[in-house]
Amino acid sequence: MKVLLAAVNAKFIHSNLAVRYLRAYTEDVDYDCRLMEFSINDRKEKVLETLVIEKPDVVAFSCYIWNIEYVKYLSSLIRLVCPECIIMYGGPEVSFDSEEFLSANAGDFVIEGEGEETYRELILKLLGLGIKRENITDNIRELTITGLYTKADGRIHYGGKREFMNMERIAFPYDEFSDMENKIVYYEASRGCPFNCKYCLSSTSHGVRFHDIERVKTEMAYFVGRGVKLVKFVDRTFNCNREFAMGIWDFLLKIGGTTRFHFEISADILSDKELALLSRAPVGLFQFEVGVQTTNSDVLRNINRNVNFEDIRDKVCELEKIRNIKQHLDLIAGLPGEDFESFRRSFNDVFCIRPEEIQLGFLKLLKGSQMRDEADAWGMVYSPEPPYEILKTRDISYYELVLLNRVEEVVDKYYNSGKFGDIINYFIPLFETSFDFFYELGEFFHRRGLFSKNISSADYYKVFIEFFDENFTEDNLALKEIIKFDYLKFNKKRWLPEFLLRDINKDTERKIRAKRKKNIHVEKYFIDILGYLDQGEIAKGEFYLTYDDENDKIEGVPVAELQNQE
Ligand code: SF4
Repeated sequence: MKVLLAAVNAKFIHSNLAVRYLRAYTEDVDYDCRLMEFSINDRKEKVLETLVIEKPDVVAFSCYIWNIEYVKYLSSLIRLVCPECIIMYGGPEVSFDSEEFLSANAGDFVIEGEGEETYRELILKLLGLGIKRENITDNIRELTITGLYTKADGRIHYGGKREFMNMERIAFPYDEFSDMENKIVYYEASRGCPFNCKYCLSSTSHGVRFHDIERVKTEMAYFVGRGVKLVKFVDRTFNCNREFAMGIWDFLLKIGGTTRFHFEISADILSDKELALLSRAPVGLFQFEVGVQTTNSDVLRNINRNVNFEDIRDKVCELEKIRNIKQHLDLIAGLPGEDFESFRRSFNDVFCIRPEEIQLGFLKLLKGSQMRDEADAWGMVYSPEPPYEILKTRDISYYELVLLNRVEEVVDKYYNSGKFGDIINYFIPLFETSFDFFYELGEFFHRRGLFSKNISSADYYKVFIEFFDENFTEDNLALKEIIKFDYLKFNKKRWLPEFLLRDINKDTERKIRAKRKKNIHVEKYFIDILGYLDQGEIAKGEFYLTYDDENDKIEGVPVAELQNQE
């Protein structure tokens, strides 16, 4: 029997952990099981061809909000060209309305919730009894398996709810053939979350189950040994068990290697001991994703998050001070009780911390979540199609959410990329708040139709000059020089876009090089750029910087040295 475990990921760089778990959990079973991963950007007909050409007996799809429409369409095509193929679905997007989903779609089975044991039992039954698609109905008694919905006989049969499995039975999902060099490696050290945020599916199951810590250490050593670039822990709140988190962080600090590790954490519960341990981490070893969602205490209460933003801020700021851990802070727009002004405050509160990244998300009313049940009470209108994104609430209009969408796009492009930091710092004091700067920039992008245009990377810088000229009457020389500084940090120095100023005397350039290194780049500025970055004061004049790519060094040429040359 040939089974294709099919995953359609949101991006090429992603990989699917669930299908790997299923394969690993049936490794001892004598059947032909293959993983097939695609991305939602792949043409469906091409994916169909890739699957069908394998002549599978079973295709099993891993279903999430980002791929469910794709999977529905793909499975209907498989049914057309391959009527004898068994199709099964599993994953969060089919686990809360499994019966309706199976009735409305082309497949034969839905595996509800945690899939490993149900999948294994089903595969063993199909193999042992030689069940084909045409005789599912004849075998419906045997196929009544806990955790499984089966379509047979024009009806849906359900085997009842399955208990959570023992974590010790979960198999390690990777092997020596796994492509670890080019993909992010996802890893799960625990399942479940102790918190109960209303919009989140993790709050629908209670309690957290952990792997034995020694097992986690062994598996981490395996990744480090294989030179994996990035391991992303998918644990919902990695640090919810202090001893466990400390034990693993401590191990990762000691093991060395080049692998980096990403964790979703609750910053407010970090203790002094944990902060002291984390302060020892080399730069870049750890990355943290911290869910803030809102800084409005009433809204936090409305979504059942019993945290104070002040506690999160204090811990995140302490970590920022250490400057060794990249932090990514999440905000959600459209939460119950949060209006536009409150979201603006939340954004400004988070921006004040200056984390490396700020992700603005929009509330999604997931099937099975408490928030979805309460939608009417909050006047929430959301898309009936995945990802069920909020369209308006009693507190925020559709139009306001559209405006926030524009803010999200410019924050992601300009702030999160980390390439425009000095330009952003120049603009922010010119506006009442940081939010207002991004808001106006988003509106500018919209008015100029830039969101739908393919703009070159140089033009992303040029936008700032046009934006400035539209909003201010002052001379834009200082801005152009700051743009030049940011531009040269991340781009080749030989060529400068025409909207930036380059006017350097070859003789001066040669003399500066002669005193230093032959292969450094010399750039002339018309303001004291380093003085401005240090003091915030703009002084006009002629100033020179040298760029040494070999050791990533940018240095100013003292004015006295230039005078001596004359
Ligand atoms: S949002 Fe995070 S903290 Fe809240 S229940 Fe979900 S996983 Fe847990």
